[in-house]
Amino acid sequence: MLMPEPYKAAHDAYLGNYLSSGIQKVIGQSRNVVARRKDGTTFPIELGVTETFLNETRFFIGSVSDISFRRKAEAELRIAATAFESQEGMVVTDPAGVILRINKAFMDISGYTAEEVVGQTPRLLKSGRHDDAFYAAMWASIASTGAWQGEVWDRRKNGEVYPKWLTISAVKGDDGVVTHYVGTHQDITERKKAEERIKELAFFDSLTHLPNRTLLLDRLKQAMTAGNRSGTFGAVLFIDLDHFKTLNDTLGHDKGDMLLQLVAQRLAASVREGDTVARLGGDEFVVVLGSLNKTAEEAANETEAVGEKILAVLNQTYPLGDIDYRSSASIGATLFRGHETSIEDLLKQADLAMYKSKTTGRNGLHFFDPAMQTVVVERVALETGLRKAIEGNQLLLHYQPQVVGAGRVTGAEALVRWQHPERGTVSPAEFIPLAEETGLILPLGQWVLESACRQLALWAIHPDMAHLTVAVNVSAQEFRDPDFVLKVVAILNQTGANPNRLKLELTESLLVDNVEDVIDKMSALKARGVGFSLDDFGTGYSSLSYLKRLPLDQLKIDQSFVRDILIDPNDAAIARTIVALAQSLGLDVIAEGVETEPQRAFLASSGCHAYQGYFFSRPLPVVGFEEFVRRV
Ligand code: C2E
Ligand code: MG
Ligand code: MG
Repeated sequence: MLMPEPYKAAHDAYLGNYLSSGIQKVIGQSRNVVARRKDGTTFPIELGVTETFLNETRFFIGSVSDISFRRKAEAELRIAATAFESQEGMVVTDPAGVILRINKAFMDISGYTAEEVVGQTPRLLKSGRHDDAFYAAMWASIASTGAWQGEVWDRRKNGEVYPKWLTISAVKGDDGVVTHYVGTHQDITERKKAEERIKELAFFDSLTHLPNRTLLLDRLKQAMTAGNRSGTFGAVLFIDLDHFKTLNDTLGHDKGDMLLQLVAQRLAASVREGDTVARLGGDEFVVVLGSLNKTAEEAANETEAVGEKILAVLNQTYPLGDIDYRSSASIGATLFRGHETSIEDLLKQADLAMYKSKTTGRNGLHFFDPAMQTVVVERVALETGLRKAIEGNQLLLHYQPQVVGAGRVTGAEALVRWQHPERGTVSPAEFIPLAEETGLILPLGQWVLESACRQLALWAIHPDMAHLTVAVNVSAQEFRDPDFVLKVVAILNQTGANPNRLKLELTESLLVDNVEDVIDKMSALKARGVGFSLDDFGTGYSSLSYLKRLPLDQLKIDQSFVRDILIDPNDAAIARTIVALAQSLGLDVIAEGVETEPQRAFLASSGCHAYQGYFFSRPLPVVGFEEFVRRV
C-alpha cells in the first residue's frame, strides 16, 4: 500500500511521535488516515498500531481497516437525521400505526410534544371533518401503491382545525413486509388563505364581499342552464340606489361605503339560498332569481314580490355612525327562460327597466317591456343629432328680458334653442339633461358662453343696449371642469365682452360638490368682474352656511314658487323668506316665471323688485329682444 503525500508525511510524523512518547504497550491506539489504492483512487482507512516484544525485540503490529462503508453509513445517518428535522412535520409509526417518533416541525405544527404523542396513533389529530370512507380510501391506496398524499384537515392541540398536505409512505423490509409508516405533514393554512384571497379578489367585490360582475355572469349562465332543463323562468333585477352620489358628496365616502355594505347585507338577506346577489360597482346591484314558476305571469308575480320586499328593506333607516340615513332604490326587472335571451341583453333589459323606475319618481320597480328599447333608440338618435347641432349651425340663443320696477329692462337671460332640421325647435328641458349625461354639455356650454359674450360686445357699442347684462346658465358639470375659469377668461378676452355685464347662473346642485373648489372658482371670476346668480333657488337643498360663504350677487326665486304664489300660502311664505334671506345676506333677488300682474304686485309687496317672465316677455330672438328694449 502506498501512501500519497502529504499523507505519507503525516504517517511518518505519527510514528515518530509514537516512538518518542516512550509509552510502552499502548494497545488500540488508532488513527484515521486517507490511503490510496493501486489504481490511484483514495479511500479512508483506520490505522492501528501496537507494539509487542518477542525475545526482547520490539515489534510493531499495524492493523489497517477500510472504513469507507462505515463512513458512508454515518453520512447517511447524518443526512437522514437532518432531513428528519426539516421544515416539514414528520411522524414515524410502526405497522400498527403507533407513533414512534416525531420531529420538531411536527411539534410546532400540532402543538404536541413527543411525550404526548409517542405511543398514540395519529387518530389523535383527527378534526372530524372527514368521514370513515375518506380514511378507508387513504389506507386502501397505501396498501396498493405504498403511498398516499392529499389534503387533510387536522386539529391542533389547542383545538384549532387547519389544512395540511399529508404524504404517507410505507417503509418495507427486504421481505416486502411493512415495517414503518412515515408521514410528512405540511401546514398549508397560509397557502390556503392565499388561494382564498385570490379567489376573493377575482370573483368578489372587496367592499361588500358580494359576487362581482365576473361571478355574476357565471351564476347567471348556470341559472339559465338550470332553467333550460326544468322549463322554469328566472329573473334579473337591476337595483340602483337613489341619490347615492349626493350622500357620497355630502357625507363623505366612508359613509357611502357603510351604506353600500348595509345594502349588500339587506339584499343578501332578502333572497333565497340559491339566488345570487352581486355588486356591479358603484351603487349598482344585481339579483338573479332562479327556478321561478313555469308560466311567465306567475314568475312575474314572484319577481314582483321579491322586488317589493327589497324596496321595503332598502327603505328602512340605515345607522351610519352618528346619523340615521334614509335611502331608497330604483329597480328594473326582466324575466328569462333558458338561453332564449343572451346574458348581455338580459342585463341591458333590466338596466333599461331600472332607468324607467328612475324617471318615474324612483323608489319603485318596473319590468322591462320592448317599448323601452324604442325610447333608447330615440335617445341615441337625439345624442347623435345634438353632436351635429353643436358643430353645425343648429343652435341659437334667445334672450328673455329681466326687468325692474314697472318694466325697465336691465338685462336678459340667454336661453339656448335647438333648431332641429326635422323636429323643429327642441326644448332645452329635453336636450340639456341629455347633454349633461353625455358630456356634450361642455362644447355646448362653450358655444353658449361665446355667443352671449359676442352679443354683449356688440351691444356695448349701441347706446340703448350698452347697459344690459346677460345671464348665462352654467350647469354643474361645466363648472366642475378644472379649466372652467380659464375658459371663461379666454372667451371674455377673445370677444372683448365687459365682464361686469356677464352674470353666470349656477344651480344649487353644484353645492354638493367640493364647496371649497366652488368658492375658489367663483372668487377667481368675481375678481375679474363676473357676477353670479343662484338659479332655481329654493328647490335644492342649499345649506345656509354654504350660501353665506359663496361670493354670490343674486338669488333667483324659482318659478315653481311664483306660479302659485297667490294660491298656495306655503309658496308665498317661501318667496317672502327668500327675499328676506337675500336682504340679510346682502344679495339682490329676482323672481322668474312671473306671468301675471297680480304675481308681480305680490312679489313687489314682498320686497322683490326684479322680475323675469311671460308677463313681460317670452324669450326672444336677438332682433325681437332689441326691439323690445327700445320699445319700453
Ligand atoms: P332656467 O334657467 O330656470 O330658465 C328659465 C326657464 O323658464 C326657461 O325655459 C324660460 O323659457 C322659462 N320661463 C321664463 N319665463 C317663464 C314664465 O313666465 N312661465 C313659464 N312657465 N316659464 C318661463 P327654457 O328656455 O325652456 O329652459 C329650461 C331650462 O333649460 C333652463 O331653466 C335652464 O336650466 C336650461 N337651459 C336653457 N338654456 C341653457 C343653457 O344655455 N345652458 C344650460 N346649462 N342650461 C340651459
Ligand atoms: Mg336660468
Ligand atoms: Mg330657473
